[in-house]
Amino acid sequence: MTANVKKTRKKTDQSDTSQAVEEFLLEQLPIPQALRNHLTFSIGKSNSWATTRDWYQTAAFTVRDHLMSRWVNTRDAYRDANTKRVYYLSLEFLIGRMLSNAALNLGIAPELSDGLQQIGQKLEGIAELEPDAALGNGGLGRLAACFVDSMATMDIPATGYGIRYDYGMFRQTIEHGQQKENPDNWLRYQNIWEVQRPEHTCEVKFYGRVLHVHTEHGIEHHWVDHETVVAMPYDVPVPGYGTQTVNNLRLWSAKATNEFDLAHFNEGNYEKSVEGRHGAETISQVLYPNDTSESGKALRLKQQYFFVSASTQDILHRFTNYNADWDTLPEKVAIQLNDTHPSIAVAEMMHQLVDHYHLQWDRAWKLVTKMFAYTNHTLMPEALETWSVELFAQLLPRHLDIIYEINHQFLQMVNQHFPGDTGLLQRVSIIDETHGRRVRMAHLAIVGSHTVNGVAELHSELLKATLFADFNKIYPGKFTNVTNGITPRRWLNQANPLLTELLTKHIGTGFQKDLSLIKKIEPFADNAAFRKAFREVKKANKQRLADKIMQKTGIAIDADALFDVQIKRIHEYKRQLLNVLHVITLYNRIRTGQVSVHTPRVVIFAGKAAPGYWLAKQIIRLINDVASMINHDPAVNHQLKVVFYPNYEVSAAEILFPGADLSEQISTAGTEASGTGNMKMALNGALTIGTLDGANVEIKEEVGDENIFIFGLTTPEVAKLKAEGYNPWDYYHSNPELKQVIDMIGSGFFSVEEPARYQAIVDTLLHKGDQYLLLADYAAYITAQDKVAALYQDQEAWSRMAILNVARMAKFSSDRTIADYAARIWQVSPFKL
Ligand SMILES: *Cc1c(COP(=O)(O)O)cnc(C)c1O
Repeated sequence: MTANVKKTRKKTDQSDTSQAVEEFLLEQLPIPQALRNHLTFSIGKSNSWATTRDWYQTAAFTVRDHLMSRWVNTRDAYRDANTKRVYYLSLEFLIGRMLSNAALNLGIAPELSDGLQQIGQKLEGIAELEPDAALGNGGLGRLAACFVDSMATMDIPATGYGIRYDYGMFRQTIEHGQQKENPDNWLRYQNIWEVQRPEHTCEVKFYGRVLHVHTEHGIEHHWVDHETVVAMPYDVPVPGYGTQTVNNLRLWSAKATNEFDLAHFNEGNYEKSVEGRHGAETISQVLYPNDTSESGKALRLKQQYFFVSASTQDILHRFTNYNADWDTLPEKVAIQLNDTHPSIAVAEMMHQLVDHYHLQWDRAWKLVTKMFAYTNHTLMPEALETWSVELFAQLLPRHLDIIYEINHQFLQMVNQHFPGDTGLLQRVSIIDETHGRRVRMAHLAIVGSHTVNGVAELHSELLKATLFADFNKIYPGKFTNVTNGITPRRWLNQANPLLTELLTKHIGTGFQKDLSLIKKIEPFADNAAFRKAFREVKKANKQRLADKIMQKTGIAIDADALFDVQIKRIHEYKRQLLNVLHVITLYNRIRTGQVSVHTPRVVIFAGKAAPGYWLAKQIIRLINDVASMINHDPAVNHQLKVVFYPNYEVSAAEILFPGADLSEQISTAGTEASGTGNMKMALNGALTIGTLDGANVEIKEEVGDENIFIFGLTTPEVAKLKAEGYNPWDYYHSNPELKQVIDMIGSGFFSVEEPARYQAIVDTLLHKGDQYLLLADYAAYITAQDKVAALYQDQEAWSRMAILNVARMAKFSSDRTIADYAARIWQVSPFKL
């Protein structure tokens, strides 16, 4: 079977093309003039009545002009060269704002800033009018956003595929100390960073049944009586830094096929005229606001299949347009599954290749297992997605058959290698028969992929030893590690212009694109003048954060205090509650005059709780109750303050990370896969207090044991303690300070009007076994915090350590991560325009 080659692009002369582009770029108007033009011709206003939002849109149009020719050119160049491409499938892209980032990556930020100044506008001011593109929950979605930035910067031919949610991550407000979720209507105003591409629309089917038709080629499987939803792509440009490459992020939006029934409308049946539209279009309406746990809702499976099917069709259209031989498919296509959310792609690819393109099963399967790779993001078994067989049979009947066939062949293979091991067969089967019949998506992803990776050394080792030990035995060599990273463009250059300027003054520019250059700052740790300048930068960033906190919460804080920062999704395993136990301990010590060193401290929390995660929301409420007691107590509030910064999102993170002195990375060892907040903080000159968990282990290796505050049980110690029978009461009874803190929470000290408010929190710690071992780690944590407070007294020593942290962060650039994926998993090379 060969593909039908429909089009061949006329090969244009390379030098002609680049010359044409050069000329086009030269034709760009000077920025001040471009701004004026856009205000008139795109916005339709004059200077005198333009709002700040008009100016934001004007600036965005102006920057977009500079993207467009590179974007077009990149796409044409990939096509002409018929390069191998990476397709990064992710249900989440937590992008944040684009204006400043695009200007930075294109190298026009200074001109834009100047141009705006000339017409009386400030870039920082107008940039705030851009709503965050918050199409993700937390770390996993932000990782995808850092990855597309790095792939473009490193000239890796890549396309991101995801969903254009009408509503992204909810906007969090705090009312009476409690989280309230508000809809994130980010598309209320025109989104200048997307282009609708109706010509690439495709159809996605749901429901119906399968007919098995005998033909001369064998049995064909026809999916009939299905419903159809239209997938409309919106393309978002992803500019690389210091390169001509602008890659594409294609986000799908669901549209009904029956747009509008005029006949019904004319009869006055207004309801009926839009019937059916509603159901179809809810698919891309809202991001599931859930982190690490899995909700099992049918709409979620619909979302997954919707974007996976559209993306798979798109990938295969592109392939068949320019290639004739199906066996070359894996030489042109590498697909990365960001967690199991898109893992139905394994079955969809088989469906497309076998049912639509009529490849033989075995040939198609070989191609599939050469194209797919899967990234796991969690060790928690409860987070692994499964779907009931009944739901699958209803929604995707053909795919269930395909999964059965994949499973049948897989289990046969396992049985050949491990004859008679029925326990093994049951454990690794794609179908779980132990809790009703359910499809295990992680197993489908593992069987369909050539490589499975964890996201930090420890995590990847634990995957092989625990969660996927059986698979590691069956597929030795399939499991590997690729440690996460963050993009230095957004998380250093853009978030921290003052530190960027200081670094540039001493080591020159270039670290933005090659973070290994940042190690050149290391010798300056011993230079007193540099340390002073470094402290001044930190102080200015803390003042910027303090001003923002005043504006958002009305709480006044002193930028000379130690800023102790824990910002991440609120989850029991991340142990914000352990931090609260320390805060209350400090409060008690200050009240009773038991502190030896007086290090004024501001403890800052930020993060969202999943709307259905009641206990996490209680933790937010407790933080706010504790904050309000401490902040209003004149006996302590010159020494200690507590802030809950509302609505943690990328744009908030860009202000919070540079303002941190102390980075709280205190998850129970063995629970955090990697973490990336830990990397962002250290890169911005915060010292880490943390457990030996996730990428903290590698941060410690890089910065050196003496430049990080490590405390608490290690992963093997956690396992041992649990195996021996952990009893939190032992710690409660033997540590009077700890007992006092827990008793205060339980007795309503912080909730006088409702004394039993936090009974459930006390119950998890004492009566329900303290699953995350807060009590076991409490004493070590307090000791580590005492060391932190003591060291902060010695500002020279503190600065020295902070500078060394910055200098030793090279490993955690997402450019390094992407280079690793490209070389070891995708086998793609950079393609320079
Ligand atoms: C980096 C980042 C995260 C991930 O933080 P962790 O501490 O690794 O959990 C989540 N949300 C936002 C907005 C981020 O920027």
